[in-house]
Amino acid sequence: MTIWQIPGQPHAASVLHDAVRHDQVGHAWAVVGPSGVGQEQLARSLAAALNCEVEVTGCGTCSSCARSLRGAHPAYWEFVPVGAAHRVGEVRDSWTHVASRTAAEGRYKVLRVVDADRMNDAAANAFLKMLEEPPPRTVWVIELADPEELPDTIVSRCREVRVSPWDRETMAALATTAPSVTDRDRDLAVRAAMGSPDRLRALLTARGLEDLRRHRSIPRELRHRGPAFALLAAAELDDEMKRAVAGVRDDARRERDQLAEFYGDAPPRDVLRQVEQRSTRREREARTVVAQTALDDLAGWYRDVLFVRTGGDPADALHADDAEGLRVDAGALSERALLASIDTLFVRREELELNVAMTLAVESLLLDLWSVAAA
Ligand SMILES: [Zn+2]
Repeated sequence: MTIWQIPGQPHAASVLHDAVRHDQVGHAWAVVGPSGVGQEQLARSLAAALNCEVEVTGCGTCSSCARSLRGAHPAYWEFVPVGAAHRVGEVRDSWTHVASRTAAEGRYKVLRVVDADRMNDAAANAFLKMLEEPPPRTVWVIELADPEELPDTIVSRCREVRVSPWDRETMAALATTAPSVTDRDRDLAVRAAMGSPDRLRALLTARGLEDLRRHRSIPRELRHRGPAFALLAAAELDDEMKRAVAGVRDDARRERDQLAEFYGDAPPRDVLRQVEQRSTRREREARTVVAQTALDDLAGWYRDVLFVRTGGDPADALHADDAEGLRVDAGALSERALLASIDTLFVRREELELNVAMTLAVESLLLDLWSVAAA
């Protein structure tokens, strides 16, 4: 069952594998759990199995499987929110259209909805209509970090399968694929990534751990250098965002080059527009991810400081490699200040997704953290 060996998600993989084997796939699945822990591979494996030319549960090697696993099979679709939410226009036009027509190839269509809990009410209602009258041989896979964000009428029409953060062992195995990192750094990355393989990969890049160490020094620097440091730290974060955006733009350039090669010198205008839209969306997402990651790093650090302040052993902390820094901050920050800081970070993290002026939002957040510590 090689296509069902999905790192970090043996339970979800076996549930879907069994459903395929017993021909009980149904027409909708809700994959519930934190995003980015293997949802893509689960949906693609399901598409591969349902359209395999060789084996009932998917061979993994035939042309159909290979394209499904790459996300490039004509019967497999991924819907990603444009901007902050899935919009009703997208659901009515694009989703309905795809769901109702017959795919050029394959027995089953598999339609994956990324961040399905980010549908607004109108979009959710339009989607519910589709679920109420499921087209034959069409399987929806909707991904929910928080099922309560969607009407129960949608969730109750789906079979639920749970995904979870990766365990320490699976994370450690992934970390060994970065050979140039020291054992000490590898251990820090595995701990700080808290079960998220995407975060672990990012931490193991050249700048990843450097950025993490800068983020966790923010409380100390704020104490020493005051509000001026908030502005400086926000500016550094802005540089981090610019680097992330530059990476996205490089990808878009490569995609345009490939299109030009494929179509001769003039790709159709609507295809080019799609590439542009996707790139704009990814740029925005890249900026959000950078800001949220910084906030998560900070929250993880404050949590560790609180742990040490209330008698925990620094060796058991996520940031065990900087026991001295933990002790220093634990001596300087009250429990109340730590709890208030963690709370501020969680509230602001939610808001960031909707905020256009991200650097300003981060600046004001850091000023808040400074005033909480100074109070
Ligand atoms: Zn196959």
